[in-house]
Amino acid sequence: MSEVKKGGISVETQNIFPVIKRWLYSDKDIFLRELVSNACDAVTKMKRLVSLGEAENEEEYRITVTLDRELKTLTVADNGIGMTEAEIDRYINQIALSGALEFIEKYEGEDGGAGIIGHFGLGFYSAFMVAGTVEIDTLSFEKDAAAAHWSCTDAGEYEMTAGKKTSRGTAVILHITEEEAEYLEAGRLRAILDKYCAFMPVPIYFSQVGVNGEDKPVNDPEPLWLRNPSELTDEDYKAFYKKLFHDERDPLFYIHVNAEFPLNFKGILYFPKLRDEYAPLEGQVKLYYNQVFVADNIKEVIPEYMMLLRGVLDCPELPLNVSRSYLQESGYVTKIAQHVTKKICDKLTGLFNTDRPRLESIWDDLKPFVEYGVTRDPKFLERIRNILLYKTCDGEYLTSSEYFEKNEGRGEENTMYYASDPLRQVGYIELFRDQGITVTVMDGPMDPRFLSFMEMQEGAVHYVRIDSDMDKVLKSEERAEENEALQTLFEGVVPEGITVKQEVMKSGKTPAILTLSEEKRRLGEILKQYGEIPGIKIPENEETLVLNRNCPLIARITALAEKESSAEKAKTLARQVYLIAVIAQRSFSRDELREFIDSSIDLLYNA
Ligand code: ADP
Repeated sequence: MSEVKKGGISVETQNIFPVIKRWLYSDKDIFLRELVSNACDAVTKMKRLVSLGEAENEEEYRITVTLDRELKTLTVADNGIGMTEAEIDRYINQIALSGALEFIEKYEGEDGGAGIIGHFGLGFYSAFMVAGTVEIDTLSFEKDAAAAHWSCTDAGEYEMTAGKKTSRGTAVILHITEEEAEYLEAGRLRAILDKYCAFMPVPIYFSQVGVNGEDKPVNDPEPLWLRNPSELTDEDYKAFYKKLFHDERDPLFYIHVNAEFPLNFKGILYFPKLRDEYAPLEGQVKLYYNQVFVADNIKEVIPEYMMLLRGVLDCPELPLNVSRSYLQESGYVTKIAQHVTKKICDKLTGLFNTDRPRLESIWDDLKPFVEYGVTRDPKFLERIRNILLYKTCDGEYLTSSEYFEKNEGRGEENTMYYASDPLRQVGYIELFRDQGITVTVMDGPMDPRFLSFMEMQEGAVHYVRIDSDMDKVLKSEERAEENEALQTLFEGVVPEGITVKQEVMKSGKTPAILTLSEEKRRLGEILKQYGEIPGIKIPENEETLVLNRNCPLIARITALAEKESSAEKAKTLARQVYLIAVIAQRSFSRDELREFIDSSIDLLYNA
């Protein structure tokens, strides 16, 4: 072929270049993904021909991305099937172009392109987002094929001539424009390759003309998720996690999913270890399409609660050229979610049944995920309801039925008592312990919502914080006739709004405790999490100071209160009793603290 074949992209299609140029302005990086994945396809096709006996190959398959800063070019070369001139004409001049056009027509105006998952499908012509001129140098695998050369400017004019390529395959040469000079930075290109091409199926080498580099592929052509779990060790999974998510800590556990037809997706999902309990739960699920990275956390594809996890999902069945809303309606997402949920639950149940100590050892870290999943997905709750663990103040982990069994005959029926701050509430915990009642710990940020959610379920457990009205638990059957002097005394020393009550507790240890209404308090906590909502008032805590008529100290104060001469002393002691009840329940205000210190010193002087 010696003649030069020239052509102009037809009038109606001429506008494609300016459109491509401003297309996906924010995500030009994908041009490299498109070109490298075309190169992978060309290699895959070659492999297939070889396996069918229709072609021969002696080389190691590879893709090279070469940067030449002097010539301001970036070249993506492969040793795949290559193209003949006729094929360039058909696949590049016609099909690829009409493909790109169709794509743009379809999605022009749809949120500037955000409507398409990962912006797939622009293909070859996305090269013009960064290049003024693009060349193709190619030699087809076909016997006696002639090398072909194609070159096209961003004005839409192409030229085809005989090529000089002597080895099989295709090289796409981009002449990077001034404005896009950032794509001539090696670091920038490496980062794009790492992001989008890290797991493409053919070894990819990156080199820079005139710079010595190591001859090692930048990708892992056989990613873990495609491998057989039986050949992999725990260490393999952990190493993969650490590398991919730049997290030096081991994940809590992982699941390897391999859904067969028709879902046909594979992936590995990790439960990360949270940095601390208040660290935001922010996962990262990377979505791949046949080993080509599409995007992180696509909410149309990844079920919401799974967003807390980290991992990879490779979904070759995903219709990427459809809009996000279609995807959501298609039910595909739901099916992925169901499959993964089942896997997670199987894993947890498996641990519960065969290695409970291990499950217990990670439960604290796991809890936020589990609680979130439970409130988001009824199926999830249903599956793990029986293995949900509750940590007790003594460091045990019990299921709700184990808890009830343990507390059998004590406390109220079907009620689980919990501490939200085991350190501060140690006084209350002691009171319960004296009654032989185990108290669980619910000190996580997700707990209030989780508890309220669980209480709305059928056959629900009732959760009561240990500083709530503790009727049955702490009170003895005995009723105390209200002592008026005592009542008046305490009503005079507690702040306004606090109710004073007299009860006979089972234990005589504690003179008084402050209790709150469980419902009001919890409502307040939940509302606070949402921040201020206009029109809704966060309810005041209804606090009650319960005086223990079974406590000798209260008896003494009562006696003092009944005599005019010791009224002052009774007042001092009553106030001190109140402050002690406060500190067992919440932090002191600055004034309370100052008062407490002063009065304690005074009391010591008078001792
Ligand atoms: P798609 O990859 O979605 O088919 P593209 O616009 O990226 O669309 O490419 C159009 C066609 O050009 C490809 O289908 C393929 O036939 C051909 N092609 C592109 N790049 C190469 C390459 N590196 N080697 C061989 N053929 C290629």
